[in-house]
Parts: sequence; C-alpha cells; structure tokens
Amino acid sequence: MDNVTNTRAVVLGGSIAGLFAARVLADAYDEVVVVDRDRLAGVSGPRRSRPQGRHINALHCRGRLVMEELFPGITAQMIADGCPSGDMAGDVRWYFDGKRALPHFVDLLAVPATAPVMERYIRERTQALPAVTFMEQHEILGLVTTADRSQVTGVRLQGLNADAEETVRADLVVDATGRGSRTPVWLTQLGYPEVEEEKTKIGLGYVTQHYTLREDPWKGDLAIIPVASPRVPRGAIFTKTDGGKVELTVYGLLGDHPPTDQAGFYDFVKSLAVPDIYDALQHADPLDEPVAFRFPTTIRRRYEKMTSFPAGLLVTGDAVTCFNPVYAQGQTVAALSALVLRRHLHSGVAPDPLQYFKDLAHDVIDAPWEMTHTVDLSYPEVPGRRTLKVRIGQAYLARVQAAATRDGSITAAYMRAAGMVDPPSALMRPAFMLKVLRKSWRGPAPTPPRQAIQPVAAGVQAA
Ligand SMILES: Cc1cc2nc3c(=O)[nH]c(=O)nc-3n(C[C@H](O)[C@H](O)[C@H](O)COP(=O)(O)OP(=O)(O)OC[C@H]3O[C@@H](n4cnc5c(N)ncnc54)[C@H](O)[C@@H]3O)c2cc1C
Repeated sequence: MDNVTNTRAVVLGGSIAGLFAARVLADAYDEVVVVDRDRLAGVSGPRRSRPQGRHINALHCRGRLVMEELFPGITAQMIADGCPSGDMAGDVRWYFDGKRALPHFVDLLAVPATAPVMERYIRERTQALPAVTFMEQHEILGLVTTADRSQVTGVRLQGLNADAEETVRADLVVDATGRGSRTPVWLTQLGYPEVEEEKTKIGLGYVTQHYTLREDPWKGDLAIIPVASPRVPRGAIFTKTDGGKVELTVYGLLGDHPPTDQAGFYDFVKSLAVPDIYDALQHADPLDEPVAFRFPTTIRRRYEKMTSFPAGLLVTGDAVTCFNPVYAQGQTVAALSALVLRRHLHSGVAPDPLQYFKDLAHDVIDAPWEMTHTVDLSYPEVPGRRTLKVRIGQAYLARVQAAATRDGSITAAYMRAAGMVDPPSALMRPAFMLKVLRKSWRGPAPTPPRQAIQPVAAGVQAA
C-alpha cells in the first residue's frame, strides 16, 4: 500500500551509479526504490544487462575512498573476505609506451575485485539500509509528469512476467540506467530541447579471461598494466582479484581487436609492448573462455547546457558520461556524482536539476573528461580537434611518463592524478614541472634486460 505522506525517491538502474545514488538518497527520503530489469539480490556473477561485468572494472583510489565514506568498513570487509590489496603506485607494474614507470609507495590502497563482486559488496550494504527497497526484474517504460510537464511525479514500469504496467509515485527520480538511458528521448517527447551529445570514435575492443596461477611470477606485485600508446595501440590489465583468481583484459583501439580463440588471444598477448604478461601466462591455467566487448565511442551528454528541465528528475553515472573504459573512471565518477547529489539534497529544498548538472559537470566530470580526451586524441586516427592546449597536454604527459621511468616520486604523483585523488592541475605545479623536465630530457630510462622465464607444460604452451 502506497503511503502517500512518505517522501519517495525512485532510482532507475541498480548498478554502481544507482547504488551510490540510493545510498545518499536514503539519508533524505523516507523511501528509496531501486528499479532494475535484472535479478540483483544474491547475484555475484555477471548480469545480462551489465555486460561490462565480465571485464576488468578497476576502482580508482578516489572511488574507493568515497565508497569507504559511504559504506564505512567496506574495504576491510573485502580484504578480510580475500580480495587482494596493494599500493597503486608501489605494487603495480605500470608500463607507458613499453617503458616501466619506477614503483613508489604512496599510500594509495587498491583492492581489485571483479566487477560483479564489487557490485555485490556495494549492493548488500545499500540493500541493508532501512529506507531502501529493490524492484528487481522490472522494465522501466517511461516517466509520469504533471499535466504541464514541468514536474516528474513517477515512473511507469512492468514486471518481467506481468501482463500490465504499473506506476510508482516519486518525489524525485534519478536515472542511472547507463549508456542506453532513455532520458534524452523522454525529454524531447515531453517537449524539452534535445540534450547536446559529444561522442569520440575510439573503436575499442576488450577481451577478458580469468586464470589460476600455479605460482606467482610477479614477485608479489598486484598487477601488470602495459598502457596502449599511439606507437603500440594495444594494452592490457592483468591483476590479482577475488577468489584467488587473476583477471586479464587485453584491448586494442581503432578496430585492432584481440581475437577470442585461445591461440589467437595468446598471440595478441605476445604482441603487447612488454613480455611480462605473456611470461606470467606460462604459469596460469584458464578458468573460462576469452570473452569480447566492443566500445565504439565515448559519450558525454551535456545536461549542464540545458536551459530548461523538468523538476523531480536527475541523471547520474554512465547515463551522463561514458568514458573510455581503459582509464577506469566510470565507477569513481559515479561515486563522486553521489556526493554532488548529496549536497543538493542537503540544501533543504527539492534539488534544482539545472544547478545539479552544472555542479556535476564542473566538480566531477570536466577534469577526467578533458584529461582522457586529450590522451585519446594522441592517436592520429581518432577524430577530433587538436587545439594547442590539447597538443601541449599530450607533449607534457609524454614527458611525465618518461620522467616516471627515472623517478618513482613522479610515478606516484601521476598515479594520484590518474586515480583522481589529486586534480590534474597537481601535475602542473611549477616545481613538479621543473622536476619532470629535468628527469625527462634524456627520454625514458632504458628497460633492464629481461630475465628468462622457463616455459612450463600447461598454460600458454598448451594453446
Ligand atoms: C567494457 C567496460 C569496462 C569498464 N571498465 C571500467 C573500469 O575498469 N573502471 C571503472 O571505474 N569503470 C569502468 N567501466 C565503466 C563502469 O562499468 C560504469 O561507469 C559503472 O558501472 C557505472 O555505470 P552505471 O551504474 O551508470 O550504469 P550500468 O552499469 O550500465 O548499469 C545500468 C543499470 O540499469 C539497468 N537498466 C538499464 N535500462 C533499464 C530499463 N529500461 N529497465 C530496467 N533496468 C534498466 C541495467 O540492468 C543496469 O543494471 C567500464 C565500462 C565498460 C563498458
């Protein structure tokens, strides 16, 4: 029975952005209803409507800090349950353009869990909040508004096995339905202007496989990450993760995609700029088949440029911005977006959508969007305007990466900015820039000679 005196927020989409949003809404509304077409409760594997859950979904340090603020003790719980942990700059082998950045401990704790397991931890903590209920296996059909269309008052849904649709009343609707969000369409149907959309064609292809390691060839390191560059537009993330497994996502840009047959996949791994992962696979037994994901374009929906917008509706997460996943920003941006939402809820009046979107763009999205768009444009085939600012940014970043091969403190500063703990402007402080220029004028440090690894019977050899 609908208690109409209760205030109610409805969150569309029960993935990472929806869960973070529900967490902060639970402090401000009597009821928070989270709607998703998938079954969610108790699920710890990939879901049909979150296919990226089969691939690496790394949470940046800033995202983990916000997650910890919203769900105190969650990091310790994950580690106690067996998720590996380590320092983002000290325990990870970062390679830029095939050159290893010197490790440096900087107190940036990373806890790599597979995407479904990370989602399960966040979901279970959200579900435990007394105000929150889940409507699983419900398709979201549309919005309900006042007759003059100025205020959203509810949503139309249909249960998976139901014959008829139903309406759920809402004082606030938050759209967290991801890339396929229907808000732009609903807005034009309601007579609002079109949302401006920016897209960049990157032609990214992911292929992922999980393994058990027979021994640890990484000498205790948490992950091996050779980042793609214009010279070698192929990269990988190979990380220890929950359940004693390792997860390997290999990717190629601009249509150069890894194959999904086992032998072709190993060949692609062998073609990476560094041999470490191929070497590690000598000690690894596959747990599943390689699985692919295509990500043709990044998208940014410019809600902050709207001049009119219905009251009672907000949008968050990938429904606003789909970053190039290689830079692992989506979940952290979703977490930070929840903090912006919280600020708007605590102002004591109903959130003003236009002001919310302006703050979201300015405080959360602009910096990581600009930083990674600049890197994407370093690939000559990626369409887009290379302004002087973009070209200077690209040249400086190349110097930072070269300097990081000679000075671990530069790796640390770079990882703090890439992990969104510090703003990108932290890399532009004069003293830091001078250090970068001093350390990079000879180019990257030469790579030390490779230690031979003895091939063993299974793993790559068996392919
Ligand atoms: C291949 C890939 C790799 C990625 N890697 C990383 C990474 O390493 N690090 C990182 O931080 N981010 C990564 N991301 C981005 C990250 O997955 C997202 O930013 C994050 O999950 C937040 O997304 P979201 O919650 O906004 O949307 P989604 O995760 O897409 O969830 C949308 C939810 O809405 C539901 N839904 C949608 N439409 C309807 C409907 N009509 N009715 C009912 N339910 C509906 C879906 O079932 C789903 O649960 C990656 C993305 C991709 C595609």
